[in-house]
Order: sequence, then C-alpha cells, then structure tokens
Amino acid sequence: MSGCLCVQWTVTPLTAPEPILICPGCGRARPFRSSGKFRLNANGKQLDAWLIYKCTSCAATWNRPLFERRAVRTLDPATLQALHSNDPRHAETLAFDVHQLRRHAPKVREAADVQVHKQVLRQESSAWSRLDILFAVPVPTSVRMDRLLARELQMSRTKVLELAGAKIRRQLRRPVRDGLRVTIARKALVRSDQA
Ligand SMILES: [Zn+2]
Repeated sequence: MSGCLCVQWTVTPLTAPEPILICPGCGRARPFRSSGKFRLNANGKQLDAWLIYKCTSCAATWNRPLFERRAVRTLDPATLQALHSNDPRHAETLAFDVHQLRRHAPKVREAADVQVHKQVLRQESSAWSRLDILFAVPVPTSVRMDRLLARELQMSRTKVLELAGAKIRRQLRRPVRDGLRVTIARKALVRSDQA
C-alpha cells in the first residue's frame, strides 16, 4: 500500500453563537440572537456601527459594537452598502464571527453542531496507505478537532488522539482551524473499524 487519499473537509457551523447577557427585561442571564439588522450612527465623516441582538425570551435588545468612530472613507463601498441595506448575508457573516463577538460578550454559547462537506482532492493509489485531511474553515467555529474527527471517523476521542500522533495532540484539543492538516494511517482506520 502506498500514497495518500487526500481529502478536504469544509466545516461550517449550523447556527450562530449566542452571547449570554444579563437581560434588562428578564432581569437574568439570557442568550441573545442576532436580529440581522444594523444600527448606524454617523458623526460627520465618522461612523459607528452595531449589529442588533434580541433576547430569546423577551423584546430586549443589545447592540453589539462592530466599529466605533471609523472614518467613512476607510470603509469599502460594499461593506458600507451592506450596512445601510441590512444585507442578510453580511449580518450572518458577522453573527458567526465568534472571535469578534467575544470581545464584547465574555460569555458566549456556541453551537457544537457543524456541517462537514467532504471532497476528495487526490487519490494517489487505490491501495492508499494514509488519509490526509485538509480542513477548510471559512467561518470560525469552536468545535474541537478531536471531537470532529471522532464523530466523522466514528471512533473514540482517545483513539483519535492516539492515531494523530504526539506532535499535533495539543492542536487537536483546540477548535478546528482553516488550513490544518491531519494524517492518519489507513491501517489505524481499519483496525479501529474492527474494534
Ligand atoms: Zn429578556
């Protein structure tokens, strides 16, 4: 057996992360969801922008800062247009940006459910000996690599950590990132199937 089966796994979260905030309406911590609408405030040649979130239990809202006092000329026209027209796609992209969200909401509930689209990039031989997985993560997600591999390869997390080797073990405990690569021997996959 020789060569690799090189595949790309494109990982996308199914639902946007939800900030957990003390809701002024409910008087307790509640998850908030993006309304898909922006709020803008122009001050001369400067612009403030927020994405409006709504409490999941009442009508209270929270404005998530996107930028403050930004010179309008430094914004690209497409972004500006998207903000002015409440472009749903732009709002969704921002709603899924958990890193930016965390800057304003220390507590965030991230959905663990992701969609994995698998695509064969190259098969060097039908008797390939290693599976080479390249991760494409266009939208950041909190799903850990080991959990994802365990789920998709139908094996335990302990087994995944064992197979992937000590070098990347630490990386596997972190959220999956764009461009990461994991190689697993076919032998190991077969053994694990039989186990
Ligand atoms: Zn509320």
